[in-house]
Amino acid sequence: MSLDGVRINQDRLWRDLMDMAKIGATPKGGVARLALTELDRRARDLFVSWCREAGCELRVDRIGNIFARRAGLDVDRPPVMTGSHLDTQPLGGKFDGIYGVLAGLEIIRTLNEARIDTLAPIDVVVWTDEEGARFGGGTIGSSTFVGRYDVETGLGRRDNDGITVGEALAAIGYAGDAPVGGYPVEAFFEVHIEQGPILEREGVPIGVVLGAQGARYFRVVVDGEEGHAGTLPMELRHDALLGAARMIDALNGVAFRHAPHPVITVGQIQVRPNSRNTIPGQAVFSIDSRHPDNRTLAAIERDMRAACEEIARKAGLAVAIEPVSQRDSIAFDRGCAAAVARAADALDLPWQEIYSGAGHDACNLSLVAPTGMIFVPCEDGVSHNERENARPEDIAAGCDVLLHAMVERASIA
Ligand SMILES: [Zn+2]
Repeated sequence: MSLDGVRINQDRLWRDLMDMAKIGATPKGGVARLALTELDRRARDLFVSWCREAGCELRVDRIGNIFARRAGLDVDRPPVMTGSHLDTQPLGGKFDGIYGVLAGLEIIRTLNEARIDTLAPIDVVVWTDEEGARFGGGTIGSSTFVGRYDVETGLGRRDNDGITVGEALAAIGYAGDAPVGGYPVEAFFEVHIEQGPILEREGVPIGVVLGAQGARYFRVVVDGEEGHAGTLPMELRHDALLGAARMIDALNGVAFRHAPHPVITVGQIQVRPNSRNTIPGQAVFSIDSRHPDNRTLAAIERDMRAACEEIARKAGLAVAIEPVSQRDSIAFDRGCAAAVARAADALDLPWQEIYSGAGHDACNLSLVAPTGMIFVPCEDGVSHNERENARPEDIAAGCDVLLHAMVERASIA
């Protein structure tokens, strides 16, 4: 058996996406389907019914993750997994997450029709509450699966009305009894819209995702001295806001010096005393810095500190750069990325390497299993928005790449 010439059914996948989008449809063409609501139940039920029709064996774990399995021939092989989420932001789109789930189902239908058996089983997963819009935090299902926190902690999270994840799961009939995680996964692949503008701008249908960027956040306090705006000559001033302005410009320069990947943003500033006719004595501003590589992120921090300290010294100001929080970058498995690139080559689809600016369930899975992600372009790079859109041919191309990469990993009998 071989996969030569086997392609997923573009029309069927698109129709499934449009049917799923009716559950929680908003007037402007988006979807509002918060995690573990009645609408989420209906979306889950629809997915489960489609999986049953496709002959899958279904399992729900204690945190409400749904696993639809197409059996493999070798009972000892761990599953090759794919999937994403069915919940959306309060004003979300039709594709974020849902595409990754329905692409998995489409692969199973395609393998059924082509009568191709794999050695390893193929699991399609719906991860509980990826978005974090209702219970905070986000990626509750996949975080619990990989053991970032225990099941009781996940079940105990509350929404604004005080309802816990456990209560909400029971109310919609998805409080399963299967244990959460704790078994080997051969590999995990997730296909997702890019949620950014790069692939569309480059005209490339497939993004081979190498990882997700890390972030470091800071609070910068610049201290000078207040003075009378009319009486203090310019050369005697210690203007904290002027120093902050020069620092903000220099920080922008640091990002360009480490091009192409870093992004550095100053989005908040407070000035004391914030008076028209007083020279500012203190300025406090935020830094949000992100990069796909932790070492470069650390080098960027050193450069940012050096730039701010140099400006402060020259201007006779004091500066303190206080870390607020940080998140390490994620590097996906090289072998999985290579499998995705080989699949795109075999399908004659142009591809390029890319990093994810957003977090995904795949970032969690990468902690316990070889993991890869595939991105496809979305219109104007817009996501978390009712306007979110993608082209049917790009959606199909990503699903074909997923099929080929997963089947390579699961081995054809
Ligand atoms: Zn998503």
